[in-house]
Amino acid sequence: MTAIEGVASEQAAGREMPPGVLVDGPLVNAKFRDSYIAFGLMFTGTIATPVWIYTQGIGRVEILVFLGMFALSTVGIGVGMHRLLVHRSFRCGPVMRAFFCAIATMAVQGSVLKWVSNHRRHHLHTDKPGDVHSPYYDGAGNEHDSFLKGMLYAQGGWVWDRATTDGEYYAKDILADPIAMFFTRTRWYWYAASAVLIPGVIGFAFGGVRTMIGCVVVSGLFRSYVMTFATSLVNSVCHSDGRYGYRRYQTDDGTTNEFVTTLITFGEGLHNNHHRFPRDAYLSHAWYEIDINGLIILGLAKLGLVQDVFLGGVRRRS
Ligand SMILES: [Zn+2]
Ligand SMILES: [Zn+2]
Repeated sequence: MTAIEGVASEQAAGREMPPGVLVDGPLVNAKFRDSYIAFGLMFTGTIATPVWIYTQGIGRVEILVFLGMFALSTVGIGVGMHRLLVHRSFRCGPVMRAFFCAIATMAVQGSVLKWVSNHRRHHLHTDKPGDVHSPYYDGAGNEHDSFLKGMLYAQGGWVWDRATTDGEYYAKDILADPIAMFFTRTRWYWYAASAVLIPGVIGFAFGGVRTMIGCVVVSGLFRSYVMTFATSLVNSVCHSDGRYGYRRYQTDDGTTNEFVTTLITFGEGLHNNHHRFPRDAYLSHAWYEIDINGLIILGLAKLGLVQDVFLGGVRRRS
């Protein structure tokens, strides 16, 4: 019996949702509004990209802006949103905190408040009823019909169910943090800067109007979608109970370390290690586990730009 089958067999159907999970009210409506607008923009870019490349072609500027913005957003989610703001793996001053909030919000994956609340709920109820995006249970706490349906739900379907997370329950520290709340309130400006303004300005500066449009469509809108897709692999592939990748630790969930996801998310795919030692700033527990985000944090600490880097699990292993 796998860890997941054990969990599933212990749970009866028709349960009440745990505290901090909302299935009705203004926060649910706000979740849908945000999802429709953000995904509308990303899907527009996704549809427009092959048309643009086929009819107009793209050059070096579009590709470099795509890669640069992809890397910035990936560090924003991995180092900023996940390890700093959710797990408090390290500390930093207000300027660095504002920088991380900015590049985290620029990933277009929701506000700091929403992302932090969702991810803390994910850790509290990992792969059990109440989880935000589990391949095993939906937002109402019902088991998915099949493995494939579960994977699709974890990869993106969860955004469209009625369950959402109460920030008052999960993220009181964020609500009390003026820097994080400034970026939460102004999230739409950061989405626009990331998906339209910055790629557009760079494109125009280096290639004129045609390159500007190419940069907005391919390096802005489409890149936001590709980057969010990569992050979502952590929810699906890295919760596949070892079907893809491997489980270093026999945790009470389906978490998995997976090589490709680890590479394209700069280390977040070392997800079994992460759930075993959630607060660690550095997730690599072997030479072949490449945690770029962790190395960035260690590098920033050496430069004195971040402090109090938490390495409990890594230290206990060595
Ligand atoms: Zn997880
Ligand atoms: Zn986490």
